Amino acid sequence: MNTRSIRFRLTVWYAGLLCALLLLFGGSTWFGLAHYLHRSLSESLGRQAQQIGENFLLDVQTSGERYVVDEINEHYSPEQNDHFVRVTRADGSTLYVSGSPLNKGFDPAQVSAAPLSALRAVTREEHLQGGGELLIYSLPFTARDGSRFVIESGAPYDSIENVLRGLLLTLALGLPVVIAIAVAGGYWIMQRALQPLDKIAASAERITSRNLSERLPVTPSGDEVERLSLSLNRMIGRLDESFQYIRRFTADASHELRTPLTVLRGELEAMAQRPRLDDEVRDTVGSSLEETERLARIVESLLAISRLDAGEAQIERIRFDLAELITTTVEQMRLLAEDRNIALSCETNGNVTIEGDRARIKQVIVNLVDNAIKYTPEDGTVKVIVGVENNRAMMRVEDNGTGIPADALPHLFERFYRVDKARSRHMGGAGLGLAIVKSIVTAHGGQVTVESTEGKGSGFRVELPLTGHDQ
Ligand code: ADP
Repeated sequence: MNTRSIRFRLTVWYAGLLCALLLLFGGSTWFGLAHYLHRSLSESLGRQAQQIGENFLLDVQTSGERYVVDEINEHYSPEQNDHFVRVTRADGSTLYVSGSPLNKGFDPAQVSAAPLSALRAVTREEHLQGGGELLIYSLPFTARDGSRFVIESGAPYDSIENVLRGLLLTLALGLPVVIAIAVAGGYWIMQRALQPLDKIAASAERITSRNLSERLPVTPSGDEVERLSLSLNRMIGRLDESFQYIRRFTADASHELRTPLTVLRGELEAMAQRPRLDDEVRDTVGSSLEETERLARIVESLLAISRLDAGEAQIERIRFDLAELITTTVEQMRLLAEDRNIALSCETNGNVTIEGDRARIKQVIVNLVDNAIKYTPEDGTVKVIVGVENNRAMMRVEDNGTGIPADALPHLFERFYRVDKARSRHMGGAGLGLAIVKSIVTAHGGQVTVESTEGKGSGFRVELPLTGHDQ
């Protein structure tokens, strides 16, 4: 998983925010409920104390204390309800105290003495020694005859604690599940929302200067992604125009240079034929003629490349046997190799039928074999191998010549790139031979690669689509 992707980062942010919000929500719910339960218990205890006072204690001097005790037992039966009730006289003696509750949750004897000095009702929490926790409401009460009492009404705190513990458990179990579902859902939604971006990236990756007429997919969603693909498409359109302009310019310039160069060459040739020519002038004319021919070759190559690039040159699509073309071309070049005492061999293994422009494929063979001969010292070997590999037509040109330095390999197929400028120029090269090879091979839907070790030799490999299965 890519931790730097927008998908991942947004999900982490979203999950973090969600956790914080849910924790805040859980915490405030817990505290809110605790406060509410505490208040309602204390209110109901207060009501109970008030009722005891008004109903039974107000006329205690006439009804008698026994009546008070009986009435409280009868109406509130505190032991059965797990409640605590105590009525204390002003002198601190106890008029009534309820017994232990049925569940023995607390011991009434442990409850501290009533706050006799308090002038107003107070609520206190009582932590008993033998365990148990009580919430006790104490109400100072004055009977009609002026005698004063403190009425205490209490209830165990457990019930509130049980509810709060239940809520805590629900939150502790529920929140991780909710967060996990929300995060998984968020990640999935994010993935769906960003999928068009992946598609755009994949399509943009495929677009090079050679297929600038292609466009990115546009999903008419009306969102930012649609706007992005439309903007990128407009940008590709502008790039396409500029590229076409540059290609047309190169093609036009080379085309325009052809005629004056032909005229120049003709005139220089005619001049060289003149009988009464000074030796010095003859030499100058000779070298000018050489340079003009070189220039003409460069212009022809440039024209060929720019036409191939512009897609103007209609590639002929005829079926032919690549093995046969290679054998005859290599035969034609044998003299070139013999001149330098280089052993030129050709290995074929049956027919290799491809579809394409025979003349241009021949140029690929010539350029590669010519280079191999040029950059291999005398007594070296150049091997051309042709066959079928992985359902593709394959041609390899291998030599044991000078080889190519590793840092030059990535630039080898660029226009005007030469490894050793001085040496290559001396050999008549302008660094366009391999650029032409690449343009032709690409126009045929194939690819060309190179492997080389400096000082040991080089191997160029051309792969082309196969037509039919011939052995
Ligand atoms: P050039 O016409 O100058 O030879 P190319 O495009 O054919 O231009 O080749 C580019 C460069 O690649 C050459 O300058 C040469 O240094 C190097 N090169 C090409 N083929 C070989 C080879 N078989 N062995 C060594 N170097 C080579």
